Amino acid sequence: MAILVTGGAGYIGSHAVKGLLAEGERVVALDNLSVGHREAIAALETVAEGRLTFVEADIGDRDTVRRTLRDHKIDSIMHFAALAQVGESVDHPLRYYRNNTASALTLLEEALDAGVARFIFSSTCATYGEPGPEFIPIPETCPQSPINPYGRSKLHVEHMLRDARAAATDAGKPFAFTALRYFNVAGSDPDGLIGEDHNPETHLIPVVLQAALGTRKFITIFGEDYDTPDGTCIRDYVHVCDLISAHIAALRALKPGEQRAYNLGIGKGYSVREVIESVRRVTGVEFEVRKGERRPGDPPTLFANPAKIREELGWEARFQSLDEIVATAWNWFREHPDGYRS
Ligand code: UDP
Repeated sequence: MAILVTGGAGYIGSHAVKGLLAEGERVVALDNLSVGHREAIAALETVAEGRLTFVEADIGDRDTVRRTLRDHKIDSIMHFAALAQVGESVDHPLRYYRNNTASALTLLEEALDAGVARFIFSSTCATYGEPGPEFIPIPETCPQSPINPYGRSKLHVEHMLRDARAAATDAGKPFAFTALRYFNVAGSDPDGLIGEDHNPETHLIPVVLQAALGTRKFITIFGEDYDTPDGTCIRDYVHVCDLISAHIAALRALKPGEQRAYNLGIGKGYSVREVIESVRRVTGVEFEVRKGERRPGDPPTLFANPAKIREELGWEARFQSLDEIVATAWNWFREHPDGYRS
């Protein structure tokens, strides 16, 4: 029995592989290395004690997925492999529907065919779109009405999972799933074994850290005229290791035939300006900040109400302060200013 981690060479997936290995699990990491890193897998192998297998393949590669599920007797899947940039999804929507929706459908078909019992899906708070003030902080009951192709590409998968789960239950199969709707994932492995490396990098905390490192000349704030206290967008930053402990708790709790959904954030929102101030505090470095236009597809305020996951799974984020989260990311970027080598 092994757990399949799709996107296991990527930022979040590699942290999941590390977390599962630390729990004594056997793990198969499947990744097409389009955004993931071979070097992350090599680093994970040093702590795997022979319990990690790497398969270089796309989740849409039906034959390889089928073979992998059977050869390794996969019972559970954590599905991370996806594209995750809102701006890119607006410019290249079909790329998102192909990768995030159509390929996930292939994976899901094969998972059901192979008798996989548990499926943990990395969904997103982007499925909520622009929640009204009555839904801030955002509970799971907030209507899901995404405003960009990224959010829609993920919501389609939630719908497929719901319908497939219902049909599987009717057919007497044990398939169960949990959708974890992430807020903004940040920070790096405190051991420094693996970290974050996107090319191009678009996410706020790494971009600001690159400005502090000097590998980027300045940082641009995308819009200062939002209806928020300082005019910049507010997001909920959750540490990647806390995110992974929630996945493991979700996997352990899932019973045959169940379907669950949880918001995954710390329940506090920070503005873009507050993130910049945090990076200045943590790094002690000054850097140039420029004013820019709003980025299409960005809602003004998103932060979680994490009550449900706390009550049902007993999950609580260990990293509660933005400075602590930024500090783990800073450690990684300082050690790896050019990211992974491969
Ligand atoms: N942002 C920014 N400048 C940047 C990158 C991001 O002002 O160079 C803002 C972005 O508009 C959003 C917030 O930072 O309001 C978080 O963006 P990110 O891309 O990190 O995550 P998202 O919320 O889009 O998933």
